[in-house]
Amino acid sequence: MKEVKSPRKPMAYYYIIVLLIILLFNVIGAPLMAREQVTEVRYSTFMHAIENKNIDEVEIEDNRIVFTEKDKNKIYETGIVEDPDLTQRLYDSGAKFSKEIKSTMSPILSTLLSILLPLIIFIALGQYMSRKLTQQMGGRNSMMFGMGKSNAKLYVQSTKGIRFSDVAGEDEAKENLAEIVDYLHDPDKYTEVGATMPKGVLLVGPPGTGKTMLAKAVAGESGVPFFSISGSEFVEMFVGMGASKVRDLFKQAKEKAPCIVFIDEIDAIGKKRNGNIAGNDEREQTLNQLLTEMDGFDDNTGVIILAATNQPDSLDPALTRPGRFDRRVPVELPDLAGREAILEVHARKIKKAGDIDFHTIARMAAGASGAELANIINEAALRAVRNGRKAVTQEDLEESIEVVIAGYQKKNTVLSEHEKKVVAYHETGHALVAAMQTHSAPVQKITIIPRTSGALGYTMQVDQGDKYLLTQEELENKIATFTGGRAAEEIVFGEITTGASNDIEQATKLARAMVTRYGMSGEFDMVALETVTNQYLGGDASLACSADTQKEIDREVMELVKKQHEKAKKILEDNRAKLDELAGVLYEKETITGEEFMEILDGEGRQSE
Ligand code: ADP
Ligand code: ZN
Repeated sequence: MKEVKSPRKPMAYYYIIVLLIILLFNVIGAPLMAREQVTEVRYSTFMHAIENKNIDEVEIEDNRIVFTEKDKNKIYETGIVEDPDLTQRLYDSGAKFSKEIKSTMSPILSTLLSILLPLIIFIALGQYMSRKLTQQMGGRNSMMFGMGKSNAKLYVQSTKGIRFSDVAGEDEAKENLAEIVDYLHDPDKYTEVGATMPKGVLLVGPPGTGKTMLAKAVAGESGVPFFSISGSEFVEMFVGMGASKVRDLFKQAKEKAPCIVFIDEIDAIGKKRNGNIAGNDEREQTLNQLLTEMDGFDDNTGVIILAATNQPDSLDPALTRPGRFDRRVPVELPDLAGREAILEVHARKIKKAGDIDFHTIARMAAGASGAELANIINEAALRAVRNGRKAVTQEDLEESIEVVIAGYQKKNTVLSEHEKKVVAYHETGHALVAAMQTHSAPVQKITIIPRTSGALGYTMQVDQGDKYLLTQEELENKIATFTGGRAAEEIVFGEITTGASNDIEQATKLARAMVTRYGMSGEFDMVALETVTNQYLGGDASLACSADTQKEIDREVMELVKKQHEKAKKILEDNRAKLDELAGVLYEKETITGEEFMEILDGEGRQSE
């Protein structure tokens, strides 16, 4: 068959393959004898032939008997007749005979299988081919390498493309990596002095902060090949060949040196080996191979290994010791300026209507990663298209932040009048408690439009700038603000609802951290009672104290939250008129901005006081 070049032909190509396969199956599947000319004869003829010892071979099937006569080339068949001593007579006649061996499968199953099997093979083949095809056509700037035994795919990507300038913010990381770029440009400068470059650099930070981008940018800036593979690929996709894949990877890298090898999610292979027998052999072998390879090549071969992880604590110490991944570059969540820069970088790709205040957007998106910010820009562009506009407005961006934070507006959720009222009071409660405490961030927006995330409404608080230190009072105020929603429900309706579950969770988490980690309890002073294990992935904490102390911690946490809850209630009771007024407006308009909120708050009410 000729190789197919145009993208259209392959379909016909596949059909021919499937036809061939089906044909093949039918040929193999059919019994040998059935293929030749068979003459049907009476059973009595068959019996005669036995009596005359004229039979050569007999095959007894389920619904017929097939036989040949001596010295004749013809094949006969006859129906099955009740004939109990047939075998004895056949034996006496000296014929070779056998019963057809039937598979244990039921006929339905076997026919089904004979239809399905070729189909499955066809689909699998088609998938494989089309993937190969798209790879060849889509990734024009990537080449595929046939590799040794493992047949793994590796890509040497075009190194033109991503530059440091495409990665906004992250200046410290860039500075750190610039040295490597310099080294790759002019290694002699370093070898002359006797300096050796680290073989491995570990990029550490939360997901979506641009670690992959930075690695690509290093390759882009240095103009060297970029090998990229994900740690989970080693252990998941290539079962049983992780180690050989590592070997192949390094063999190629050394041939292409100087170059960058990027291992994403290195924690998937580099987790601490805990020495228990039930451990993951596959992973350990892969890790050992990686260690061996890293030790195996000389300093200054020009192969630089960059690896990314968001669980640096879980890495095997063998991996992070000097001579391996001994340099660690933190890639943190962007700060306010960083967020603004990232938004601007990504906004270059979209059409904007009028001036857009990226500073405000960046403030609203506190805590968002680079990937989330990129997503926010794209959501805004999608929203503009949805609304039939040709350019993105400030409003699109602000709405898309909410989409990313809280999910889409849920248009068909119908709250009863009473429920809507409860939600309005609940959210106003949060906002009012926040506003009445001097150290709380001003309210940016309150809304009671249900969201797909399940939130029935929310209050968005935005800090003026980034905060790196929080005082005890600020933390307490935060807890009070969390409890403000429930407090409003209690005061106004005298009953409580399930709407505060998320508030409760957050308030407790904060109070707990204050007691166990920030040393802000009366009793425990500066004793660490919890250690954070997963700093970049939500920050799980594990207790590090006795059971007795745990009881004490629980009591302290409870008291802390209770006290702030009481405080919130007091604030709302003192400002009941404002609470009613604000909740009323929110109920009517469903969304009020921070400015409107402050206007009402500072309005006539205060004058009449
Ligand atoms: P990580 O590897 O840290 O999980 P990536 O490098 O894959 O994150 O980033 C995912 C996407 O997020 C990028 O493709 C890019 O669009 C965006 N992004 C993340 N950080 C930045 C940044 N500092 N500047 C510009 N874009 C960023
Ligand atoms: Zn709430």
